[in-house]
Amino acid sequence: MTAILSNLQVIRLAIAQAAQAVQRDPAGIMLLAVSKTFPAEAVREAYAAGQCAFGENYVQEALDKIEALRDLPLEWHFIGPIQSNKTRVIAESFSWVHGVDRLKIAQRLSEQRQLHLPPLNICLQVNVSGEGSKSGVAPEEVEALALQVVKLPGLKLRGLMAIPAPADAPAAQRLPFAQMQRLLQQLNAHGLSLDTLSMGMSHDYPAAIAEGATIVRVGTAIFGVRTRPQP
Ligand SMILES: *Cc1c(COP(=O)(O)O)cnc(C)c1O
Repeated sequence: MTAILSNLQVIRLAIAQAAQAVQRDPAGIMLLAVSKTFPAEAVREAYAAGQCAFGENYVQEALDKIEALRDLPLEWHFIGPIQSNKTRVIAESFSWVHGVDRLKIAQRLSEQRQLHLPPLNICLQVNVSGEGSKSGVAPEEVEALALQVVKLPGLKLRGLMAIPAPADAPAAQRLPFAQMQRLLQQLNAHGLSLDTLSMGMSHDYPAAIAEGATIVRVGTAIFGVRTRPQP
């Protein structure tokens, strides 16, 4: 058995256990395999092990892989920071974009989404308290942004995404995820109908599932430690 196959089996089991612990249906949790820095062959191997959704952070690297894997029915998610001069290729090549935190980027993605494609699925990135990275919209500004983004015809606003600062203890890991879940509930109470919480990575996905994650983005635990430098 290859490492990727056995890693996927371990993670699927852990997802099911984390879901059952809080009486959730594991079928409501999508595993997104984050393949950044790993070659197309690694993606092919994960696909052979039953994995269909893949996340990439860097546009050019992603485009090369998408091209090399055209023969497979894969679903590609863009999860990296978005530069405005890259929105066209992102809109043309991906099914989901997780890191939207500005109206201008959302407008460009909507305008540039080709008409023959279904609307691009969007998550708004939230800068939850203690978030390590600087990107993301402040929690108190999410609703105003969501109400604008939901109107854009080329997009389908699905929910929220976060990258909290790393924490070791599961109880500490759960705090920002719980905040995200409350935020999603608030938006839905105010008339939106969002179904996605994209949160949880290799070190904290069980905690994210405990707080309602519907997409967990897992790289290292599937493909191993990234050694190639990231651009
Ligand atoms: C790299 C990355 C991941 C995966 O992180 P791991 O710790 O390797 O599981 C998830 N989400 C985003 C936004 C990333 O950039």
